[in-house]
Amino acid sequence: MTIERRQASVARGVATAHPIEVVRAEGARVWDANGKEYLDFIGGIGVVNVGHNHPRVVRAMRLQLERFTHVCFQVATYAPYVELAERLDALVSGARSQPLPSSRASSSQPLSSSRGAFSQPLPSPSSSRAAYKTLLLTTGAEAVENAVKIARAYTNRPAVIAFDGGFHGRTLLGMTLTATGSLYRQNFGPFAPEVYHAPFPHALHGVSTEAALRALEHLFATRVPRDRVAAFLVEPQLGEGGFVPAPPEFLKELRRLATAYGIVLVLDEIQTGFGRTGRMFAFQHFGIEPDLMTLAKSLGGGLPLSAVVGKAEIMDAPAPGGLGGTYSGNPLACAAALAVLDVFEEEGLLERSQALGAQLHAGLTGLQSRFPRVAEVRGLGCMLAIELSSEGESAVELTQRILDEARARGLLLLRCGPHKNAIRFLPPLNAMRDDIDRALAILEGAFQAS
Ligand code: PLP
Repeated sequence: MTIERRQASVARGVATAHPIEVVRAEGARVWDANGKEYLDFIGGIGVVNVGHNHPRVVRAMRLQLERFTHVCFQVATYAPYVELAERLDALVSGARSQPLPSSRASSSQPLSSSRGAFSQPLPSPSSSRAAYKTLLLTTGAEAVENAVKIARAYTNRPAVIAFDGGFHGRTLLGMTLTATGSLYRQNFGPFAPEVYHAPFPHALHGVSTEAALRALEHLFATRVPRDRVAAFLVEPQLGEGGFVPAPPEFLKELRRLATAYGIVLVLDEIQTGFGRTGRMFAFQHFGIEPDLMTLAKSLGGGLPLSAVVGKAEIMDAPAPGGLGGTYSGNPLACAAALAVLDVFEEEGLLERSQALGAQLHAGLTGLQSRFPRVAEVRGLGCMLAIELSSEGESAVELTQRILDEARARGLLLLRCGPHKNAIRFLPPLNAMRDDIDRALAILEGAFQAS
């Protein structure tokens, strides 16, 4: 069995959430080696926002495969990289920071059609080319590392302030920027210098926005003066840290401080990006705009691809040769990403994300009313989680049992949060309303059985 062979041959530090071997995946479903079908609400941890093996994406990969798979962008230019950079520049500069008309889109919105309007028309690349620029890379951690490099080159300052609950990758700097005390850092020190952490507000855990901002001021006063700080690095909604949306006032104040003190505001949208929160980018919920943004996961539709997109003046701070990587912006991954962006447009995935999110949120709120162990239902759009309260039996064990029960009944879910007592939901944005209903029914059964 492949699972036993994994144990014998693969380093044990690479853990697995579910003891299944996947042999096929399509849309919102995966199948294991025994032919069992699962609804996949993990989606490769937020990678397949357009669903597994979307035919449009597969076709684009095939076409590119037949042309060439690798030349390295530092060796020669190829169109898929440049086209994707133009699309991302246009998408980010065209994204307006406005709240949704209502906090949640109507759950009665039909989802059966595969076509729909793109909620914000894409501006043409030429209208925005000067304002934003893009760097393509391979993994999310690499995008984070490069955003820090760019911010340091631009400001000529060393320090970076990251926030509690944040997760920014498993490289040395990514792990250093990740929340202190997290499992991802255990036994891996010493860490990179000039990284400081400040609280991230979360009312459920007793951290108010005011307290978080006071702690930030204290950090400036006692450990790192503002004029040493190159960047703030923050997720607009924590991902691994528990799907906690930032309070708008908190991000607005970070934006104000960044502008006032020449600090680069980097939003890590690696998990929140590409429609997950009901907007193309999560920052659009908050009335702020970032200086730099890190993107990855859903961008490549399943292939490894990441990006830093940001204000052209900042992006151009590193000298030629300072940025890149052998596989960065691989042509196959770029071709897939261009198709992913087409799918967003053709299938109206932002509206569908809002509607699916509303349906899922309503279902989870219902679950909360029947199961008092559900302490909170939270998140933006289709990036939702429930947190189990710590009263009574260990929440970690209960959470694990619920996930195991759900898997046995055909639903794959993943935990999140510093205490691993939250369950996150990452369905594809083109899942059907029936898929959400089915997932909610399975979850209800899993709670009853646990
Ligand atoms: N930043 C955020 C917000 C993430 O969620 C992740 C991955 O989960 C990363 C960075 C790291 O991305 P990668 O695993 O592709 O290096």
